[in-house]
Amino acid sequence: MVSPENSSSVPEEARLRVVIVGAGLSGIAMAISAALSGHSVEVIEQAKELAEVGAGLQITPNASRLLQYWKLPASLWDAAAEPTKVTVHRYSGPVLAHDGAFDKSIRAKYNAPFVDLHRVDLQQALYARAQDLGVIFHLGERIERIDFDNTVVQSVAGKQFTGDLIVAADGLWSQCREAYVGKKDEPLPTGDLAYRIVLTVDQISDPDLKAWVQHPEVHFWIGPGAHAVGYSLRRGQMYNIVLLVPDNLPPGVSRQSGSVQEMKELFVGWDPILNKFLDYVTNVDKWKLMHHGEMKKWVNNESNLVFIGDSCHPMLPYLAQGANSSLEDGAVLGLLLGHMTDKAQLPGILRLYEGLRKSRGEAIVRETFKQRHDFHMEDGEEQQKRDEIFKSQLGKELKGAFPSRWTCPEVQPWLYGYDAIKEVENAVVKNPGIFAQQKSRRSLCQFL
Ligand SMILES: Cc1cc2nc3c(=O)[nH]c(=O)nc-3n(C[C@H](O)[C@H](O)[C@H](O)COP(=O)(O)OP(=O)(O)OC[C@H]3O[C@@H](n4cnc5c(N)ncnc54)[C@H](O)[C@@H]3O)c2cc1C
Repeated sequence: MVSPENSSSVPEEARLRVVIVGAGLSGIAMAISAALSGHSVEVIEQAKELAEVGAGLQITPNASRLLQYWKLPASLWDAAAEPTKVTVHRYSGPVLAHDGAFDKSIRAKYNAPFVDLHRVDLQQALYARAQDLGVIFHLGERIERIDFDNTVVQSVAGKQFTGDLIVAADGLWSQCREAYVGKKDEPLPTGDLAYRIVLTVDQISDPDLKAWVQHPEVHFWIGPGAHAVGYSLRRGQMYNIVLLVPDNLPPGVSRQSGSVQEMKELFVGWDPILNKFLDYVTNVDKWKLMHHGEMKKWVNNESNLVFIGDSCHPMLPYLAQGANSSLEDGAVLGLLLGHMTDKAQLPGILRLYEGLRKSRGEAIVRETFKQRHDFHMEDGEEQQKRDEIFKSQLGKELKGAFPSRWTCPEVQPWLYGYDAIKEVENAVVKNPGIFAQQKSRRSLCQFL
């Protein structure tokens, strides 16, 4: 693998001032990638401190290869859990699908691991790396206005941050998106909500459940209108459970503390193992799952605003690709900007980024809704047909379309096999016109 230290660093005259709005995973990924390319980067974040929600995150090979490429510290990998098996259960417990060598097959196929991380561990590792690279963070500044004529973002407190490029990484409720479309543009409910649960192994007294947590695997339970996913974190010292159920939060409420009793009632009749875990839950929050219509463009006409992450492609978390694809966005954009030799190339580069990323981001969004359809079937004829497909392949090498895209031979390769670094290398070769000025200067230099 080419390391970032070998990658190109822009000449002084092409050095951009990049202003990133939002220090979520997309924003910090972009900050690292742009800083590695030699640009000057500032990140403006409304939160006073960086504290991702204390829950788990599944990092798939398409993004873990980027974390390796960015040389995140060994401590991050030490704090990961690498699941050895992936099992899909019918909600009552029977196994529908099972990959008993998941870790090995993933590494063999994609040359990068599938790991489960605590969000805070990932955010802190990215944050530290960005700071090492000289990225400046302004915390506690909420951006409320953008002056596109002068490439300035302004915070509620009146502070102004000026750049050559504004990167909208401000998530689902993006102010940048509203500033760009010029009207309210709120996300839409998907009809589902998530209960997010993290248990530590010390909280669990049942020896069977303790052993379950200490041997990292991923388990899905799929049922009518709902599903649950459980996986270990921190080398088997924590267990993360997400319950995906029909949304009953009032309109306009995106997060609320939930009732443990109400949550447990939704899972009566489900696998006793899942219910034993739920017995250890003492409090829980409900998160409304939202999405957005597709944007026409991810780059404005002035070529000084570009969108990444949830600000432009929020999705259902049913394939665990929201953060993974956000890291891809940041990587691709930052790497492309590393090939700049003249600021005049910026509009072309931004359009190239949009061309590479928009169709993929939106395809993943659509795939998450297809996964919901296949996981949330009501009991009946369609569900029985689905389960026949599952069971006909149990214990065999999977072939053709498969109802769990996590191991589907048609979907998994394009999700996990994506290599943002190669994508950029190929795009640069295929689009010499965009970087022509760089080429002519380099060849001119050779004659001087
Ligand atoms: C239940 C659940 C489970 C999930 N599991 C996974 C998973 O396993 N794997 C995966 O890949 N994805 C998962 N996701 C999705 C993932 O969390 C998101 O897609 C990802 O975090 C988006 O990152 P982001 O940086 O684009 O946005 P965000 O994380 O929302 O970050 C936006 C940042 O911008 C800041 N901000 C917002 N407005 C402003 C403003 N006006 N001024 C300044 N700062 C501002 C915010 O404070 C925030 O820090 C899950 C999501 C949910 C809900």
